[in-house]
Amino acid sequence: MKKISMSQIDSLFKAIAENEALYIPTDKGDIAEFAKYEDGMTLTEKYNTNRSAKDFFFPQTENLYDIRMNGLKLEIKDTRKECEDFVVFGVRGCDVRAFDILDRVFLVDPIDTYYKNRRSHATIISLACNRPEETCFCNAFGIDASDPNGDITAWKHGDTLYMDAKTEKGEALIAKLGTVLEDADTAPVEEVKSAVKTVMSKLPLANTSFEGMKQSDLLAHFKNEKWAGLSESCIGCGTCTFVCPTCQCYDIREFDTGNGVKKFRCWDSCMYSDFTKMAHGNPRTSQLERFRQRFMHKLVYYPDNNDGIFGCVGCGRCIAKCPISMNIVKVEKALEVEA
Ligand code: SF4
Ligand code: SF4
Repeated sequence: MKKISMSQIDSLFKAIAENEALYIPTDKGDIAEFAKYEDGMTLTEKYNTNRSAKDFFFPQTENLYDIRMNGLKLEIKDTRKECEDFVVFGVRGCDVRAFDILDRVFLVDPIDTYYKNRRSHATIISLACNRPEETCFCNAFGIDASDPNGDITAWKHGDTLYMDAKTEKGEALIAKLGTVLEDADTAPVEEVKSAVKTVMSKLPLANTSFEGMKQSDLLAHFKNEKWAGLSESCIGCGTCTFVCPTCQCYDIREFDTGNGVKKFRCWDSCMYSDFTKMAHGNPRTSQLERFRQRFMHKLVYYPDNNDGIFGCVGCGRCIAKCPISMNIVKVEKALEVEA
Protein backbone atom coordinates (compact mmCIF):
# COMPACT_ATOMS: atom_id res chain seq x y z
CA MET A 1 0.00 0.00 0.00
CA LYS A 2 1.28 3.48 -0.91
CA LYS A 3 0.04 6.97 -0.09
CA ILE A 4 0.36 10.65 -0.98
CA SER A 5 -1.21 13.75 0.52
CA MET A 6 -4.13 15.11 -1.55
CA SER A 7 -2.41 18.51 -1.33
CA GLN A 8 0.51 16.93 -3.24
CA ILE A 9 -1.62 15.18 -5.87
CA ASP A 10 -0.27 17.50 -8.57
CA SER A 11 3.18 15.98 -8.06
CA LEU A 12 1.67 12.50 -8.57
CA PHE A 13 -0.08 13.58 -11.78
CA LYS A 14 3.07 15.34 -13.06
CA ALA A 15 5.23 12.29 -12.36
CA ILE A 16 2.83 10.03 -14.30
CA ALA A 17 2.42 12.54 -17.15
CA GLU A 18 6.22 12.81 -17.55
CA ASN A 19 6.30 9.29 -19.01
CA GLU A 20 2.89 8.74 -20.60
CA ALA A 21 -0.35 10.53 -21.36
CA LEU A 22 -2.52 10.84 -18.25
CA TYR A 23 -6.28 11.42 -18.23
CA ILE A 24 -8.15 12.55 -15.11
CA PRO A 25 -11.81 13.40 -14.44
CA THR A 26 -12.08 17.19 -14.22
CA ASP A 27 -14.90 19.75 -14.07
CA LYS A 28 -16.25 21.15 -17.35
CA GLY A 29 -18.98 23.59 -16.38
CA ASP A 30 -21.63 21.71 -14.43
CA ILE A 31 -20.39 18.26 -15.39
CA ALA A 32 -17.20 16.22 -15.09
CA GLU A 33 -15.41 14.63 -18.05
CA PHE A 34 -12.06 12.90 -18.54
CA ALA A 35 -9.41 15.20 -20.02
CA LYS A 36 -5.69 14.92 -20.77
CA TYR A 37 -3.80 16.18 -17.75
CA GLU A 38 -2.06 19.53 -18.02
CA ASP A 39 -0.38 21.61 -15.31
CA GLY A 40 -2.97 23.25 -13.08
CA MET A 41 -5.80 20.86 -13.93
CA THR A 42 -7.76 19.76 -10.87
CA LEU A 43 -9.52 16.51 -10.01
CA THR A 44 -13.31 16.79 -9.93
CA GLU A 45 -15.20 16.30 -6.69
CA LYS A 46 -18.13 14.82 -8.63
CA TYR A 47 -18.77 11.12 -8.18
CA ASN A 48 -18.63 10.21 -11.87
CA THR A 49 -18.08 11.60 -15.34
CA ASN A 50 -20.92 12.56 -17.68
CA ARG A 51 -19.59 10.26 -20.40
CA SER A 52 -18.09 6.97 -19.34
CA ALA A 53 -14.50 5.77 -19.60
CA LYS A 54 -15.45 3.48 -22.53
CA ASP A 55 -14.51 6.42 -24.81
CA PHE A 56 -10.83 5.56 -24.26
CA PHE A 57 -11.22 2.18 -25.95
CA PHE A 58 -14.30 2.66 -28.11
CA PRO A 59 -14.25 6.32 -29.19
CA GLN A 60 -17.30 8.10 -30.57
CA THR A 61 -15.76 8.12 -34.04
CA GLU A 62 -12.59 6.63 -35.54
CA ASN A 63 -11.00 6.19 -38.95
CA LEU A 64 -10.79 2.51 -39.96
CA TYR A 65 -8.90 2.80 -43.27
CA ASP A 66 -8.54 5.07 -46.30
CA ILE A 67 -9.33 4.32 -49.94
CA ARG A 68 -7.55 6.41 -52.60
CA MET A 69 -8.05 6.54 -56.35
CA ASN A 70 -4.81 5.98 -58.31
CA GLY A 71 -5.89 6.27 -61.95
CA LEU A 72 -8.37 3.46 -62.39
CA LYS A 73 -7.01 1.55 -59.41
CA LEU A 74 -8.19 1.68 -55.82
CA GLU A 75 -5.51 1.76 -53.10
CA ILE A 76 -6.43 0.77 -49.59
CA LYS A 77 -4.33 2.34 -46.83
CA ASP A 78 -4.26 0.79 -43.37
CA THR A 79 -4.39 3.83 -41.05
CA ARG A 80 -3.87 1.89 -37.81
CA LYS A 81 -0.94 2.97 -35.63
CA GLU A 82 0.37 1.39 -32.45
CA CYS A 83 -1.25 3.32 -29.62
CA GLU A 84 1.02 5.04 -27.07
CA ASP A 85 0.89 3.91 -23.45
CA PHE A 86 -1.55 5.94 -21.38
CA VAL A 87 -2.96 6.07 -17.86
CA VAL A 88 -6.55 6.79 -16.84
CA PHE A 89 -6.94 7.95 -13.24
CA GLY A 90 -10.18 7.95 -11.26
CA VAL A 91 -12.27 5.32 -13.04
CA ARG A 92 -15.16 4.20 -10.82
CA GLY A 93 -15.90 0.53 -10.14
CA CYS A 94 -18.92 0.47 -12.46
CA ASP A 95 -16.91 1.75 -15.43
CA VAL A 96 -14.06 -0.70 -14.71
CA ARG A 97 -16.56 -3.61 -14.83
CA ALA A 98 -17.89 -2.17 -18.10
CA PHE A 99 -14.47 -2.85 -19.67
CA ASP A 100 -14.97 -6.58 -18.95
CA ILE A 101 -18.37 -6.44 -20.69
CA LEU A 102 -16.88 -4.68 -23.73
CA ASP A 103 -13.95 -7.14 -23.78
CA ARG A 104 -16.42 -10.00 -24.23
CA VAL A 105 -17.66 -8.26 -27.39
CA PHE A 106 -14.51 -6.79 -28.93
CA LEU A 107 -11.83 -9.28 -27.85
CA VAL A 108 -13.52 -12.50 -28.98
CA ASP A 109 -12.93 -13.92 -32.44
CA PRO A 110 -12.81 -11.95 -34.73
CA ILE A 111 -10.82 -9.63 -32.45
CA ASP A 112 -11.38 -5.91 -32.94
CA THR A 113 -7.76 -4.79 -33.37
CA TYR A 114 -8.62 -1.09 -32.94
CA TYR A 115 -10.12 -1.77 -29.51
CA LYS A 116 -7.40 -4.27 -28.53
CA ASN A 117 -4.65 -1.80 -29.40
CA ARG A 118 -5.99 0.75 -26.92
CA ARG A 119 -6.85 -1.79 -24.22
CA SER A 120 -3.35 -3.25 -24.22
CA HIS A 121 -1.68 0.17 -23.85
CA ALA A 122 -3.83 1.47 -20.99
CA THR A 123 -3.18 1.39 -17.27
CA ILE A 124 -6.32 1.93 -15.21
CA ILE A 125 -6.25 3.58 -11.78
CA SER A 126 -9.69 3.12 -10.24
CA LEU A 127 -11.07 5.23 -7.43
CA ALA A 128 -13.35 3.97 -4.65
CA CYS A 129 -16.66 5.88 -4.38
CA ASN A 130 -16.64 7.80 -1.10
CA ARG A 131 -19.82 9.62 -2.15
CA PRO A 132 -21.94 7.42 -4.44
CA GLU A 133 -25.06 9.05 -5.87
CA GLU A 134 -28.72 8.20 -5.26
CA THR A 135 -28.85 6.78 -8.80
CA CYS A 136 -26.07 4.19 -8.18
CA PHE A 137 -26.91 0.48 -8.03
CA CYS A 138 -23.65 -1.26 -9.00
CA ASN A 139 -24.03 -3.61 -6.01
CA ALA A 140 -26.91 -5.27 -7.91
CA PHE A 141 -24.20 -6.70 -10.20
CA GLY A 142 -21.77 -7.70 -7.45
CA ILE A 143 -19.52 -4.67 -8.04
CA ASP A 144 -17.76 -3.46 -4.90
CA ALA A 145 -17.65 0.36 -5.08
CA SER A 146 -15.45 0.36 -1.99
CA ASP A 147 -12.76 -1.80 -3.61
CA PRO A 148 -12.99 -1.46 -7.41
CA ASN A 149 -10.91 -3.48 -9.85
CA GLY A 150 -8.23 -1.87 -12.01
CA ASP A 151 -4.46 -2.06 -12.42
CA ILE A 152 -4.19 0.15 -9.34
CA THR A 153 -6.99 0.93 -6.88
CA ALA A 154 -7.04 4.31 -5.11
CA TRP A 155 -8.95 5.44 -2.03
CA LYS A 156 -9.40 8.94 -0.61
CA HIS A 157 -9.24 9.16 3.18
CA GLY A 158 -9.31 12.71 4.53
CA ASP A 159 -6.33 14.53 3.03
CA THR A 160 -4.61 11.34 1.89
CA LEU A 161 -4.81 9.28 -1.28
CA TYR A 162 -3.97 5.60 -0.87
CA MET A 163 -2.97 3.42 -3.83
CA ASP A 164 -2.54 -0.33 -4.14
CA ALA A 165 -1.35 -2.18 -7.27
CA LYS A 166 -3.51 -5.12 -8.38
CA THR A 167 -1.79 -6.16 -11.62
CA GLU A 168 1.75 -6.29 -13.05
CA LYS A 169 1.00 -3.12 -15.03
CA GLY A 170 -0.04 -1.40 -11.82
CA GLU A 171 3.08 -2.58 -9.99
CA ALA A 172 5.26 -1.31 -12.87
CA LEU A 173 3.63 2.13 -12.72
CA ILE A 174 4.03 2.40 -8.95
CA ALA A 175 7.68 1.32 -9.26
CA LYS A 176 8.24 4.13 -11.83
CA LEU A 177 6.79 6.70 -9.43
CA GLY A 178 9.57 5.98 -6.90
CA THR A 179 9.65 8.40 -3.98
CA VAL A 180 6.57 10.37 -5.11
CA LEU A 181 4.60 7.82 -3.06
CA GLU A 182 5.28 6.78 0.54
CA ASP A 183 4.71 3.37 2.10
CA ALA A 184 1.40 3.25 3.97
CA ASP A 185 -0.59 1.27 6.49
CA THR A 186 -3.74 -0.50 5.26
CA ALA A 187 -5.92 0.41 8.28
CA PRO A 188 -7.25 3.77 6.89
CA VAL A 189 -8.25 2.04 3.65
CA GLU A 190 -10.23 -0.56 5.61
CA GLU A 191 -12.03 2.37 7.30
CA VAL A 192 -12.90 3.88 3.89
CA LYS A 193 -14.15 0.53 2.58
CA SER A 194 -16.40 0.07 5.57
CA ALA A 195 -17.78 3.66 5.29
CA VAL A 196 -18.48 3.24 1.54
CA LYS A 197 -20.29 -0.07 2.15
CA THR A 198 -22.47 1.64 4.78
CA VAL A 199 -23.37 4.45 2.34
CA MET A 200 -24.08 1.96 -0.45
CA SER A 201 -26.45 -0.03 1.77
CA LYS A 202 -28.53 3.11 2.40
CA LEU A 203 -28.94 4.25 -1.22
CA PRO A 204 -32.50 4.26 -2.65
CA LEU A 205 -31.63 1.50 -5.13
CA ALA A 206 -29.54 -0.56 -2.67
CA ASN A 207 -31.89 -3.53 -2.81
CA THR A 208 -32.22 -3.64 -6.59
CA SER A 209 -31.73 -7.12 -7.98
CA PHE A 210 -31.88 -8.38 -11.55
CA GLU A 211 -31.79 -12.07 -10.64
CA GLY A 212 -35.59 -12.25 -11.09
CA MET A 213 -34.98 -11.73 -14.81
CA LYS A 214 -33.55 -15.26 -14.91
CA GLN A 215 -36.85 -16.79 -13.73
CA SER A 216 -38.50 -16.35 -17.12
CA ASP A 217 -37.27 -17.56 -20.48
CA LEU A 218 -36.28 -15.40 -23.43
CA LEU A 219 -39.58 -15.74 -25.28
CA ALA A 220 -41.67 -14.94 -22.20
CA HIS A 221 -39.70 -11.70 -21.72
CA PHE A 222 -39.90 -10.90 -25.42
CA LYS A 223 -43.67 -11.33 -25.54
CA ASN A 224 -44.33 -9.52 -22.25
CA GLU A 225 -47.24 -7.10 -22.69
CA LYS A 226 -45.54 -4.54 -20.42
CA TRP A 227 -43.22 -3.41 -23.25
CA ALA A 228 -46.01 -1.34 -24.81
CA GLY A 229 -46.54 0.78 -21.69
CA LEU A 230 -42.85 0.99 -20.85
CA SER A 231 -41.87 2.23 -24.30
CA GLU A 232 -44.89 4.48 -24.89
CA SER A 233 -43.17 7.74 -23.91
CA CYS A 234 -39.70 6.95 -25.28
CA ILE A 235 -38.76 9.67 -27.77
CA GLY A 236 -35.90 7.64 -29.24
CA CYS A 237 -33.30 10.30 -28.43
CA GLY A 238 -30.55 7.70 -27.85
CA THR A 239 -29.17 9.53 -24.79
CA CYS A 240 -29.31 6.36 -22.67
CA THR A 241 -27.13 4.51 -25.18
CA PHE A 242 -24.51 7.25 -25.56
CA VAL A 243 -23.93 7.76 -21.83
CA CYS A 244 -23.97 4.02 -21.15
CA PRO A 245 -20.52 2.48 -20.47
CA THR A 246 -21.58 -0.89 -21.89
CA CYS A 247 -23.50 0.09 -25.06
CA GLN A 248 -21.40 -0.77 -28.08
CA CYS A 249 -23.56 -0.34 -31.22
CA TYR A 250 -21.81 1.38 -34.11
CA ASP A 251 -22.27 2.21 -37.77
CA ILE A 252 -19.61 2.14 -40.53
CA ARG A 253 -19.73 5.01 -43.01
CA GLU A 254 -17.69 6.70 -45.74
CA PHE A 255 -16.47 10.28 -45.95
CA ASP A 256 -15.64 11.55 -49.44
CA THR A 257 -12.31 13.42 -49.28
CA GLY A 258 -12.40 14.47 -52.95
CA ASN A 259 -9.80 12.00 -54.17
CA GLY A 260 -10.80 9.05 -52.07
CA VAL A 261 -12.82 7.85 -49.15
CA LYS A 262 -12.24 7.69 -45.43
CA LYS A 263 -13.97 4.67 -43.97
CA PHE A 264 -14.92 5.38 -40.37
CA ARG A 265 -17.07 4.01 -37.64
CA CYS A 266 -19.15 6.02 -35.22
CA TRP A 267 -21.44 5.26 -32.32
CA ASP A 268 -24.97 4.36 -33.27
CA SER A 269 -28.03 3.62 -31.16
CA CYS A 270 -30.51 0.75 -31.27
CA MET A 271 -33.06 3.38 -30.20
CA TYR A 272 -32.86 5.07 -33.64
CA SER A 273 -35.35 4.32 -36.40
CA ASP A 274 -32.59 3.96 -39.04
CA PHE A 275 -30.35 1.70 -36.94
CA THR A 276 -29.16 -1.32 -38.99
CA LYS A 277 -31.33 -0.16 -41.86
CA MET A 278 -30.78 -2.37 -44.90
CA ALA A 279 -31.94 -2.32 -48.50
CA HIS A 280 -35.23 -3.97 -47.56
CA GLY A 281 -35.81 -1.55 -44.66
CA ASN A 282 -35.38 -1.68 -40.89
CA PRO A 283 -35.79 -4.95 -38.97
CA ARG A 284 -37.38 -3.07 -36.04
CA THR A 285 -40.05 -0.70 -37.31
CA SER A 286 -41.63 0.58 -34.07
CA GLN A 287 -40.19 2.34 -31.01
CA LEU A 288 -41.59 -0.53 -28.92
CA GLU A 289 -39.36 -2.99 -30.80
CA ARG A 290 -36.32 -0.71 -30.55
CA PHE A 291 -36.87 -0.03 -26.85
CA ARG A 292 -37.37 -3.74 -26.17
CA GLN A 293 -34.14 -4.55 -28.07
CA ARG A 294 -32.02 -2.31 -25.83
CA PHE A 295 -33.25 -3.81 -22.59
CA MET A 296 -33.52 -7.40 -23.86
CA HIS A 297 -29.91 -7.13 -24.98
CA LYS A 298 -28.65 -6.01 -21.57
CA LEU A 299 -30.87 -8.21 -19.41
CA VAL A 300 -31.50 -11.34 -21.48
CA TYR A 301 -29.42 -11.78 -24.68
CA TYR A 302 -26.05 -10.68 -23.24
CA PRO A 303 -26.31 -12.82 -20.07
CA ASP A 304 -27.56 -15.78 -22.14
CA ASN A 305 -24.35 -15.60 -24.18
CA ASN A 306 -21.96 -14.56 -21.41
CA ASP A 307 -22.18 -16.91 -18.44
CA GLY A 308 -25.13 -15.08 -16.88
CA ILE A 309 -23.34 -11.71 -16.67
CA PHE A 310 -25.76 -8.82 -17.23
CA GLY A 311 -24.88 -6.09 -19.74
CA CYS A 312 -25.42 -3.30 -17.19
CA VAL A 313 -23.09 -2.11 -14.41
CA GLY A 314 -25.51 0.06 -12.44
CA CYS A 315 -23.70 3.34 -13.11
CA GLY A 316 -27.03 5.18 -13.00
CA ARG A 317 -26.26 7.44 -15.97
CA CYS A 318 -29.44 6.46 -17.83
CA ILE A 319 -31.47 7.19 -14.69
CA ALA A 320 -29.98 10.66 -14.43
CA LYS A 321 -30.13 11.54 -18.14
CA CYS A 322 -33.29 10.12 -19.72
CA PRO A 323 -35.64 13.03 -20.54
CA ILE A 324 -38.72 10.91 -19.79
CA SER A 325 -37.31 9.33 -16.63
CA MET A 326 -37.33 5.82 -18.07
CA ASN A 327 -34.50 3.50 -17.10
CA ILE A 328 -33.32 -0.07 -16.71
CA VAL A 329 -34.42 -0.36 -13.06
CA LYS A 330 -38.04 0.53 -13.97
CA VAL A 331 -37.92 -1.99 -16.81
CA GLU A 332 -36.58 -4.73 -14.55
CA LYS A 333 -39.24 -4.06 -11.90
CA ALA A 334 -42.04 -4.21 -14.47
CA LEU A 335 -40.77 -7.39 -16.11
CA GLU A 336 -39.93 -9.16 -12.88
CA VAL A 337 -43.44 -8.65 -11.46
CA GLU A 338 -44.83 -10.06 -14.68
CA ALA A 339 -42.45 -13.05 -14.48
S1 SF4 B 1 -32.91 8.29 -23.01
FE1 SF4 B 1 -35.06 7.76 -22.51
S2 SF4 B 1 -36.27 8.76 -24.14
FE2 SF4 B 1 -34.14 8.72 -24.88
S3 SF4 B 1 -34.01 6.79 -26.09
FE3 SF4 B 1 -33.36 6.28 -23.97
S4 SF4 B 1 -35.26 5.55 -22.95
FE4 SF4 B 1 -35.90 6.65 -24.83
S1 SF4 C 1 -28.02 0.64 -18.63
FE1 SF4 C 1 -27.98 2.58 -17.46
S2 SF4 C 1 -27.27 1.99 -15.38
FE2 SF4 C 1 -26.82 0.26 -16.78
S3 SF4 C 1 -24.67 0.59 -17.40
FE3 SF4 C 1 -26.00 1.55 -18.99
S4 SF4 C 1 -26.24 3.72 -18.36
FE4 SF4 C 1 -25.42 2.57 -16.59
